[in-house]
Amino acid sequence: MARIDLNNIRHAYMPNPLSEDDFALKRVHHTFDDGGAYALLGPSGCGKTTLLNIISGLLPPTEGEILFDGRDVTDLSTEDRNIAQVFQFPVVYDTMTVYQNLAFPLRNRGVPAEEIERRVRETLVMIDLAGRAEQKARGLTADDKQKIALGRGLVRSDVSAILFDEPLTVIDPHMKWVLRSQLKELHRRFAFTMVYVTHDQTEALTFADQVVVMNEGEIVQIGTPEELFERPNHTFVGYFIGSPGMNVLPVQIDGGDIHIGSHAVRLAEPVATNSGALTELGVRPEYVRIGEKGMPAQIVRVEDTGRRKIVHATIDGHPVAAIVSEDCVIPSDPRISFDPAGTNIYADSWRVDPVRDARGGAI
Ligand code: ADP
Ligand code: MG
Repeated sequence: MARIDLNNIRHAYMPNPLSEDDFALKRVHHTFDDGGAYALLGPSGCGKTTLLNIISGLLPPTEGEILFDGRDVTDLSTEDRNIAQVFQFPVVYDTMTVYQNLAFPLRNRGVPAEEIERRVRETLVMIDLAGRAEQKARGLTADDKQKIALGRGLVRSDVSAILFDEPLTVIDPHMKWVLRSQLKELHRRFAFTMVYVTHDQTEALTFADQVVVMNEGEIVQIGTPEELFERPNHTFVGYFIGSPGMNVLPVQIDGGDIHIGSHAVRLAEPVATNSGALTELGVRPEYVRIGEKGMPAQIVRVEDTGRRKIVHATIDGHPVAAIVSEDCVIPSDPRISFDPAGTNIYADSWRVDPVRDARGGAI
């Protein structure tokens, strides 16, 4: 397995890119640690596949270099980089049996016969196809073919990294869960460097130790699921992750005081922003309280989701969602307050760090 450094990578699909908008991938400068489990998460078209194909060597980047364990591999092919890649749609050899499909990458590399037998049998169990080892791939469903493709990605133990591009798209929901858990387990056992592309936050948050959130060709935050939840670096992260996503409200900052319309808001730690920036307050629905104290609110709708309720309200016309417990009673004159610990301030969509003194404490 390898550490992967992406140094100042940019990519444009057009021949002579001029402006920033011409780049499908804006500047990416990041290290994937050896043995890490990463997810690339973002909406369709944000550049996930582009970045993955640059790592694997299918796509030469317009600018920048890729290092594996410090060695420059920018000009090497996928094979020479020793990468296993699983795509969104199955790529299998139709005329081979399931067993042969899995054995193929090992035979190609001259792995001894007993080891091939052992690894293929182990992988067949993992992908739940042990009973169909001798069947030709041609007759199988898309779902089973994709399991073969996954198996082919997992069967080798000597790869630099295993890359997955939305590999569970064609798999049925129950099997999705099973395979995802197995990938996680495999990572725990063998510490492969794994990069898993998905647009599904649940997949990303359950699979990865570190989630790389992308939007419009840019990495907007890299963090643990907890960091993305507690401290979204960008309003996009707040809104894309979470259900419902973070509330974002326009605020005025006036000498350390923060106002939503005529209401003052208290923060855990003070912030300072440049004048002229668009300032917004972000607070996840989990940190919005409904009770007798705070800003007057109008309730628009209450969704009962079983263990908890999602309350949709407005403050001065701005929509705010709150997650409250099932037994929460909404007063007749409802008021909303924000838990300061879960409140972040954004300037031009990027999170503003609290003001700190020389000792690192908030002032
Ligand atoms: P994702 O995998 O996140 O859905 P992609 O990396 O496939 O996103 O695409 C990023 C952007 O690059 C999109 O705007 C897409 O239309 C564009 N793009 C992707 N592949 C090509 C290509 N072969 N030629 C031109 N534009 C492309
Ligand atoms: Mg894609």
